[in-house]
Formats: sequence, C-alpha cells, structure tokens
Amino acid sequence: MVAAVAACTDSGGSAGGSRGADSATRPASRPPTPIPGVTDAAFALGVASGDPLPDGVILWTRLAPKPTAGGGLPAGDVSVEWQVATDAGFRTVVASGRQTARATLAHSVHVDARGLAPGREYFYRFRAGTALSPTGRTRTAPAADASPNRLRLALVSCQDLQQGYWPAYSAIAADGLDLVLHVGDYIYESDPKSRFPDRRHTTPATPGLGQLQTLDDYRDRYGQYKSDPALQAAHHASAWVLAWDDHEVENNYAGLTDEDGDTGARHQDPAAFARQRAHAYQAYYEHQPIRATLVPGSPNMRIYRRFGYGDLLTLNVMDTRQYRTPQPGRRPNDIGPSALGEDNTAGTMAGAAQEAWLRDGLRSSRTRWNAIAQQTMMAQLHLQAVVNGRSVGSVAANLDQNDGYGPYRTRLLTAVRDSGATNPVVLSGDIHCAWINDLRVDFDRPETPVIGTEFVCTSISSGFLLINDDFVRRNNERLNPHVRYYRGDKRGYTRIEVTPDQWRADQRIAQTIDRRDAPVTTDQSWVIEAGRTGVHRA
Ligand code: FE
Ligand code: CA
Repeated sequence: MVAAVAACTDSGGSAGGSRGADSATRPASRPPTPIPGVTDAAFALGVASGDPLPDGVILWTRLAPKPTAGGGLPAGDVSVEWQVATDAGFRTVVASGRQTARATLAHSVHVDARGLAPGREYFYRFRAGTALSPTGRTRTAPAADASPNRLRLALVSCQDLQQGYWPAYSAIAADGLDLVLHVGDYIYESDPKSRFPDRRHTTPATPGLGQLQTLDDYRDRYGQYKSDPALQAAHHASAWVLAWDDHEVENNYAGLTDEDGDTGARHQDPAAFARQRAHAYQAYYEHQPIRATLVPGSPNMRIYRRFGYGDLLTLNVMDTRQYRTPQPGRRPNDIGPSALGEDNTAGTMAGAAQEAWLRDGLRSSRTRWNAIAQQTMMAQLHLQAVVNGRSVGSVAANLDQNDGYGPYRTRLLTAVRDSGATNPVVLSGDIHCAWINDLRVDFDRPETPVIGTEFVCTSISSGFLLINDDFVRRNNERLNPHVRYYRGDKRGYTRIEVTPDQWRADQRIAQTIDRRDAPVTTDQSWVIEAGRTGVHRA
C-alpha cells in the first residue's frame, strides 16, 4: 500500500491563495522556463475533469506529444503547474499548485483540486515549462444541504473507434452539460481493422490475439482514442464520471477469468490475466480524471463510488466487471439459454462487498432521485426464434448482461424496492442500442408493480450487436412487455435533465457515424414524474 499515488501529495495546492491576486494570463507567478522536449504539443491529449464533489474536482492531463507511440516525452519526471479560475480568461485564479507528472505513470497528472465553492462553474489549465494546455470547463457538485433546481447530464457508452466517428461527442460538447456519465467500453482491445483509414487501431506488441496485453499496448490505445477532437471537446466542456466495462481490459472478462473467444484470444491462467488486468487498470487510471487509488502492479482498483447533488440526486456508480463471477455456460458469443442465468444462484456481478455498499447507500439516501449507474442492461431481455409466426426452440438471453445473473438481479431489485430510496433509476449501456424499460423485481409477472425505470444509452459508435431490428421488436412485443422504448439503428447518447419534479430523457441520435460533422437530433423524449413510478412520452 506504500505506493499509492492517486493523489500525489507533492502538489502544494493552494485553494483561494491567489484569489484576485493578479491578471496574469500564464498559470504561475514565476516566469516560465522551457523544459527541453516539452512544447505545447505535449498536451495533444487535452485535459479533463471528473468526480466532482461540493468542494473539489479531479483535474487530469497527460504529457504525450506522440500519444500512439509511447508518449514521446524525454525520460524523467516533469513538474506541471495547474490553475483553477472562475473565468475562462484566468483573471480570477482561485486555486493553483504544482504536481509531478511521473514517467512511471506515463506522465499523467491527477490533481485533487479542493477548497472550491459548491455548485459552480470553473475553468482550469496546466503548464509544463512554457508549454500551455488547452482550457477545460468544469463544475463542482452542489452542497449536500443545497436544493438544486436542475442537473443536466449525458449518459454514454461504447465508442469503438474503428467503427466510425463520434458526432455524438460534438453534440455533447455543444450541450454544455453539468456532467457526462460514461458506463464503459471507452476503448476496445481488438486488432487494427477498419473501413476508415484514419480509424485503424494501434498495433499491439503481439497482434493476432485480438486483445491488448502490455502496459504500452493499453497506453497507446488510450492515446489514440483520446486524440479524437470530438471526445476532447466533450471532456473540455464538462466534468465526467466514468466506470469501465469489459473492453477496457478484454471482451467479456469476469473477475480474473478472461475471455475464451473465437477471435484468437485464448484462456490464460489467472496469474497471466491478472498481469494483463493490472496493465489495463493502470492505463485506465493514467488516462481518466478519476478519484481512485492506483497501486502500480496490482490487478485491483476500486472504482465503485457514490456522488451527491444536494437533495436532488444520489448517483451510485457500480463496477460490475472486477468482482463478478463467470458467466454461466461461458458462451463465447454471450447468448445462451435464459435458464442458465435464472439458475445462477451462486452468481454475482458486483461481489458481496459492493452489493452491501449499494444496499446501505440506498437505505440511507434522503435525495429525491436515486440513480444506479452500472454497465449492462438490467431488465430481462428474452429472445426466441420465430418461424412462420410460431416460437421455436428455447428462450435465449445475453448471459453477459444481468440476465446471466438472475438471483443477483432479484436481490438487487428487491433491495432497491425495500430500501425506501425514492424514485430509483438505473442507467446502463453496453448493448449498442437504446432502451427504456420498466423495472420489476420479477419480470415474468407483469401484473406486479413497477419499482423503477431503466435508461440504456445507445453506443457512441460501436456496432449493433443483435441480429436484426425487426427480430428484436417482435421479441419485445411477445416476450418483453416491460420495454417501453427501443431503437437499434442509431448511435448517439441519452441526454438527461433532472429537476425536483421530473426526470426527462432525450434519446439523441446521430444521422450517421460515417462523418465527423453529422447532425445529431432528438428521436423521442421520455419523462418520469417524481413520486410516480413508470415512464411516459413527453
Ligand atoms: Fe461495447
Ligand atoms: Ca461491454
């Protein structure tokens, strides 16, 4: 535990220390001295902020002039200055400090900037020598005893770079939201193959495995993804809260069991996979504005955590990968008999400790809305072949989703129902198409009460997984009556506005992902009224 480096303590941060002190437009009082090899290009990955609290936020950058080729900085640590101001021109600097960008952490920087005022907008930037970063905008959370009148956020997931461009992120940047909530698949681990010449993945040290393995593999892949201008614009515009799913490490992994896939990936022994997971988690930490404690070399990192927005919203962010038991049946393509999931009595997606953490948090919550962000679809989704109008064969389900862990889901939804937490909402991704679902403890008994609503965002760019749209629609009508909205053919995001009286979700869709500048529009809007379960068209 000695090597915990999440919030380096050498920052010497001074919140409020230089308030209104000068009108300098450079981040420090001392005249800057150039650092050999460090130019403005060192900030090629932009900046980011995340995990907002009422008094602070994590500020992130990574010095990497060659982001897809090892970073490109000279060896050795680099001292980086940071500033937080109330205006984009940095006339009123309210916090500043200095932090070491360590070579052992790919010259990434995580500043835990504290002493800020609750519920307000800030601007931040970094400087290394004479090199100046772009400016990011962020927002602290409202005070615990505040009564905010609204919160606006985007729910996003699944951005396979090889499958297209990210107009959704340009739209999110333009929305100017309080928060972007990413529930996983920020990178994909697959080998280079794309119909867009400028979207081909970086080549890992050992191609042909269909997965990344080394720390450099993962770093270069993040470097590639984070070079995208639309993604950077979305980071520069809002604070983010992120949680990983499987592809940040390897498709469909579960705990320390890796994929036995059909893409060339082979089962590794748990020790080998633990090393791979340690590399993946470290690279994740190095590239995200997350408040977490990284222990280099460890395959474990706790990222499940909770955020409060005054008396308006509690946001529980879950990690359903690191602690989960293997999918029942271990089908390489996820799909298997739904009975395997219903009978998975020993299974869990969260692990006992996280399950207890969620239960306790729901029980003690006093906020109007209570959101649970997790990775894969919570609601039951049954699929069955239809031939000549008749159902054929057994009922199938995606066993990597909550459907693979039936008793765990029943436990979780029972806990939600019995907790007393008002207006529960589940936020999910992973399936690359958009859904709004009524949640019931037992989905096979549609006569029982709806206990909450689930919003599943479509992907930013990852391809639609299910066989075809018509097939899904027919199955929803026959087998999944709790599905209220479904759209499979478009990429985009779910834009959410939370007020004391209403939860509103705009289903945002990009016309195409073949172009960076494709228009993004609202397909439909759905609303929950506070105090009344169930969702309806706006
Ligand atoms: Fe995905
Ligand atoms: Ca996934």
